[in-house]
Amino acid sequence: MASKTPGFEGVTEYCERCGQTTTHQVAVELRTENTNTENAAFSREPYRVATCCECDAEHAQRMNNA
Ligand SMILES: [Zn+2]
Repeated sequence: MASKTPGFEGVTEYCERCGQTTTHQVAVELRTENTNTENAAFSREPYRVATCCECDAEHAQRMNNA
């Protein structure tokens, strides 16, 4: 299980590309999202972006999925 610590830099997570647990740089970004719903053409959603320090794989995960 990956520890959920948003906004925390340098966390240890499982990397699918590496196939093992590696150190990730974690940042929170606001990304513009194009939804195909009629009311919100552009909405900026906070994403938690974890970048693997070993292979540079980027894992972006939307935070407010509640
Ligand atoms: Zn990796």
